[in-house]
Formats: sequence, structure tokens, C-alpha cells
Amino acid sequence: MAEPKTYRNFIDGEWIEASARQTRENRNPADKSEVIGTFQSSGQADIDAAVEAARKAWRRWRQVPAPKRAEHLFRMGEILVRRKEEYAREMTREMGKPLREARGDVQEAIDVCYHIAGEGRRLHGHTTPSELPNKSCLSMRVPLGVCGLITPWNFPMAIPSWKLIPALVCGNSVIIKPSSDAPLSAYHLVKVCQEVGIPRGVVNYVTGDGESAGTPLTRHAGVALISFTGSSETGRQVNLACADTYKRAALEMGGKNAMIVMDDARLDLAVEGALWGAFATTGQRCTATSRIIVHKKILKEFVDRFVERAGSLKVGDGLDESVDVGPLINEAQLKKVMDYIQIGRDEGADPVLGGVRLTKNEYGRGFFFPPTVFTGVTRGMRIAREEIFGPVVCVLAADSLEDALEIANDSPYGLSSSIYTQDVNKAFAAMRDLETGITYVNSSTIGAETHLPFGGLKKSGNGHREGAAHTAIDIFSEWKTVYVDYSGKLQKAQMDNN
Ligand code: NAD
Repeated sequence: MAEPKTYRNFIDGEWIEASARQTRENRNPADKSEVIGTFQSSGQADIDAAVEAARKAWRRWRQVPAPKRAEHLFRMGEILVRRKEEYAREMTREMGKPLREARGDVQEAIDVCYHIAGEGRRLHGHTTPSELPNKSCLSMRVPLGVCGLITPWNFPMAIPSWKLIPALVCGNSVIIKPSSDAPLSAYHLVKVCQEVGIPRGVVNYVTGDGESAGTPLTRHAGVALISFTGSSETGRQVNLACADTYKRAALEMGGKNAMIVMDDARLDLAVEGALWGAFATTGQRCTATSRIIVHKKILKEFVDRFVERAGSLKVGDGLDESVDVGPLINEAQLKKVMDYIQIGRDEGADPVLGGVRLTKNEYGRGFFFPPTVFTGVTRGMRIAREEIFGPVVCVLAADSLEDALEIANDSPYGLSSSIYTQDVNKAFAAMRDLETGITYVNSSTIGAETHLPFGGLKKSGNGHREGAAHTAIDIFSEWKTVYVDYSGKLQKAQMDNN
């Protein structure tokens, strides 16, 4: 096998080493012995250099007409289409998700490029009549400046693209700080930016861990906005750091998503949706189905069918096309999942499937954990309230729709939810009453499309929505209001016409 490549930071159009000359290996979670690459461990000095470059570049980039900026983004989409298979394979190697899901991750970035590129010829503002004669009023979108983009490892190309592409079309410059567990996919995205000719300094890429590279970015006075996706606790810290320097923070955080299965649901559909929601990406999605609230009339039948199907899922290296469930991301995440299994047992829940780490043969080389189903769960248990971020799902019983909704809403999180029912009245009541940013009817809690608003309530978000052009652009632009008085005299609002 060839020597693993060393990847550098990208600052002011140059690929350079971190100032401290320290690096960190990125390893394959399906096989710890395989080094994917060596990445820079950056710190304050590297962030300072990136912010300086980004500020300089921003002065020019903001003057490039938005339709021209967008042409670069459209071309990025075209390159990603050609490289989809290559980038998907490298993504599976760096973070473990099965290849078909990795292809979906690259596809999301393609979809974002094509969708947002169209925005270059919109970026609409508003005009409105003035209360005074011979005066015009308008508001228009202007860029913010330098945007810091901090991303997790579970959608290592899709999530950077959700931030990068709208930030660029709005005329901002950016610094991307990807997760240390999956920096390669963001590297590919940045290489594509370079390839399509986005001017130097507009896109900067700085790798390193949260404390040494992330914190200086959130604290830097030259950064106008931090767009963050990650855990709720890290998001809280990011928010505090942003408050200190009066910068904006757009936070996408954790989830504890509930699926309701009513007694009139099509059980075949609900079982397949629950499998996909709970175990895709090894349960490591912010929108993963981690609570299944089942009407008590069908509880036994649902659990029997669900457990049988979950037990038949194939766990293994995601590069094997027949694998359904890949490894967990790292040792720490594996330990966290195992700790929660013990917590669940101690709380009196019953792990009717899984619950024990896989270590035999090739499993011993990676961080493999089987699909795990807890029954006998009640809403106050920690396993029903805290984000586990692994292939672990809790089944809870409900007496009625009202009971199910109450259980679903009794959560500190509010990202995604779903209901399986054939009754249109129940479906509409759930759409109205589920306290989440996203609700699916007769579909799983996962599966967002990139052109719709994406985000959550409570500990899942702070009021922003990525995805859809109009909401993503709200994050990455500032409203500027302009009054033009062509009356030739001083006119006073609220006074001269009253
Ligand atoms: P994490 O919070 O550990 O890390 C996210 C990013 O923040 C990483 O780049 C990390 O290096 C950086 N970071 C860590 N500490 C920091 C600090 N003090 N200051 C600045 N940056 C810091 O999350 P993770 O383990 O990479 O990802 C999993 C989490 O992300 C889960 O909670 C999941 O629900 C959430 N997530 C949310 C969404 C969403 O859109 N709502 C999408 C995917 C993942």
C-alpha cells in the first residue's frame, strides 16, 4: 500500500503546513491500521493567517457580480458529478458509512451547487412605497464578510457544502474547519473550489481539533459569522464565544428524534422506515430515529417484525456493497454507545437485540457495534432523552395519538419527527403538534432534500434553517435598507405627512 499522503491547509491560495508543524493521522474506522492521510493540526496562528487572507479576498469577491460568482458554483457541481464515485469511496474509507450512503452524501453537495447557483440571478430584495412623495425605499442583501464554517464528520461533504455554497453566492469569503475525524471530504470540496478558479483567499481550509483550531475561529474579531454543525454542547460553547465578539452564530445541533407508529399504520412501511431511520449511517445522523413510539394495540407485532428485520442487517466495512451498517466513527463513540447500553440496563430497559460490541475476525479491526433495540423504555429514562449517536433505538408504548405526541414532545431536542398512519386527520394533527423543525408522514425521520429548510428547535438549533435557498441566504447575508430622496428638499418621516 502506498505511503499515506500528507494534506495541508489552504490559506490565501497556497497549500501550506500548520505553523506548529504538527499533524494528525486520519484512520479508517472499519480498519484502524489503515491511515487515510495525515492532516495539519492547526492553531491560533493559522487561523489568524486564514482570517487575514479571507478579509483581503472578501473586498474583491463581494464586488464580483453574483451571477458570475454562481457560475463557479455551477461548475463545481459538474466536477462533483464526474468525481462522485471516487469521492464516495474515499468518504467511506475515512468515516465508514456504506458506499451507497457516501454516494448520497456527494450527491447532496451536487444538489446544493445546482440549486444555489440559480440564486446568483435572484438574491432578490424588496421595494416598497415611501410615506413621502418623491422618495424611494428598497432593501437589498449584502454579504457579511468572513464566515467561519465548523462541520462534523457524519456528512463530511454534504454539510460543508450546505454552508460553503450559499456563503459564496452571497459574496462572503470563508474558512472551513472540518472535523478531525473526516477532513478528507472537505479537502476534496476545497480542491474543486480551486479548480473552478474561485479567487485566492476566498476559500480557506484549516484542519485541527475543536479546541486548538475551532475555538480561535469562534473568538476571532475578524470573523462575522460562525456557521456550526455539531453536538448541542459544542454548539453552546460556540454560541458563548460568538457572543463575546458580537458575531452571529447559526447553530445546527443534536437530536433525539421520534417516530410515531399508530395502530392504523401500514406496518410493513413502518418497519422499513424504522430500520432505515435507526440504523442508516450506524445511527450517527442528527435526524436518526432514536425513539419509536408505538400504539400499544400493535406494540408486540411491531416489535417482533422490527427486531427480526434489524437482526438480519449486515454489519461490516461500508466498501462491501452488501453491508447495511458500517462501523462507529471512533473509539470514543464506541465507548459512549457501550456506556449507554449499561445505562439502559441499569434503568430497567430490555435490550431485546444487540447490545454487545462485535469483536470477532474482521470486526476486531474496527469500531463495530450491532443494531440494538431497547424495549420497556419510558420517557424519563436517560436512554430516551439523551442523544446516543449509535445504532441504538428505544421503543416506547403509547395509548393514543395525544399520548404519543406528548411523549414525542417531551424531549430537550426538536429536530425531526415522523408519524405512520393511514388517517389523514391524525397526520395533520401530528404535522401541527410535533415540536420539531421537520416532520415526515409515512416516512422515516431521515431523508432531507437539500432545497427545503433544514433545522430544529430547542437544543437542536437556534432559529436558522439551512438548505432551501431563501433560508440559507438569510444566514449568509445582511439586509441593507436604502432610502433615496429625489424631492430636492429635506423631508421628515413621521412628521411631514401627519
Ligand atoms: P462535535 O460537536 O464534537 O464537533 C463538531 C465540530 O466542532 C468539529 O469540527 C469539532 O472539531 C468542532 N469543535 C469542537 N469543539 C469546539 C469548540 N470548543 N469550538 C469550536 N469548534 C469546536 O460533533 P461531531 O461529533 O463532529 O458530530 C456529531 C454531532 O453533530 C451530533 O450531536 C449530531 O447530532 C450533530 N449533527 C447535527 C446536524 C444538524 O444539522 N442539526 C447534522 C449532523 C450532525
